[in-house]
Amino acid sequence: MTQLSDVMQDIRKRQRIKPYPPTEPVGFWTGEDLLDGKAVKSNTIIFRTKGCYWAQKGGCTMCGYTYDAAITPPTVEDILAQYRSVEERIDGSVVKLFTSGSFFDKSEVPEKARDEILSGLSKKASKVIIETRPEFVTDKAMEDAKKHGVRLEVAIGLETSNDKVRIDCINKNFLFKDFVKASETAAKYGITTKAYLLLKPPFLTEKDAMEDMIKSVLDAAPYAGTISINLCNVQRGTIVDELFRKNAYRPPWLWTIVEIIKRVHGKTNSVIMSDPLAAGQARGPHNCHVCDYEFADAIRKYSMTQDIRSFDGLKCDCRLLWEKTLELEGWTFGSPLIY
Ligand code: SF4
Ligand SMILES: [Zn+2]
Repeated sequence: MTQLSDVMQDIRKRQRIKPYPPTEPVGFWTGEDLLDGKAVKSNTIIFRTKGCYWAQKGGCTMCGYTYDAAITPPTVEDILAQYRSVEERIDGSVVKLFTSGSFFDKSEVPEKARDEILSGLSKKASKVIIETRPEFVTDKAMEDAKKHGVRLEVAIGLETSNDKVRIDCINKNFLFKDFVKASETAAKYGITTKAYLLLKPPFLTEKDAMEDMIKSVLDAAPYAGTISINLCNVQRGTIVDELFRKNAYRPPWLWTIVEIIKRVHGKTNSVIMSDPLAAGQARGPHNCHVCDYEFADAIRKYSMTQDIRSFDGLKCDCRLLWEKTLELEGWTFGSPLIY
């Protein structure tokens, strides 16, 4: 039987990958984040590594980040050169370290490079958020990271609390209990956890995706002080992209995320955030294209204030279409009714 990993590997083989210098990070930008309830400046660094080991085996059905990976694995010096190329520009209270994989995977970021980066950041940032898969959140890694004295948070792409959806729709090869274990391991060292959840993986109707997200937020909250809801966007070279091009996938409605936040607001102690990337574009979360920017602004405002009144006054005629989508998509076996 063909597995999702086989399909993903086949798609990945067909992609043309641009060779990048191993000393150049994938990206660096300045934004905003919440720190102890206050909006503060943040910096995000995406290191170029050999890439996520799981993506190399096929990986997740929506993930195109692997195409940013270096063709030959960067050395310790290469990774440190990437850090130094942006070091001067780091001026945020919160610094986020991404690799399009796992910063704690030694085969992506060798321990020596990890140590030097965290030691450097301990003099600059109030808090460092590190993206990783749960299997790399070990006692040893947490102990080593903690010794630099900077406040840390591990950010894990849990995507959903439903193991069936995570395995059968996303092809992410870990279970909810692995996420719980990672969060508990981190907590032993005073390290908090942020959970990334994915709204609308492929093969789910809009309504099922909405219900899955509401449940996932409530399930993840006891283990994650911050929950970031990622609205699925269509990245090239993925199963989501193949479905999108066959009119068999539509990114989530912005009405859906607003409804989710309204339903979970006040029911957890976690900070709930969402940054609607590519909102208003066909490949990103959208409503009718008339009201999209207004919705995206309200979602960003809620994320920075946690004030549910951010959604007051949002209205548009497309609400009726969204309601019909929720009602009828179950009859089309998940095929989108409206693009
Ligand atoms: S989503 Fe994360 S775990 Fe999945 S393939 Fe992409 S980088 Fe790897
Ligand atoms: Zn609209």
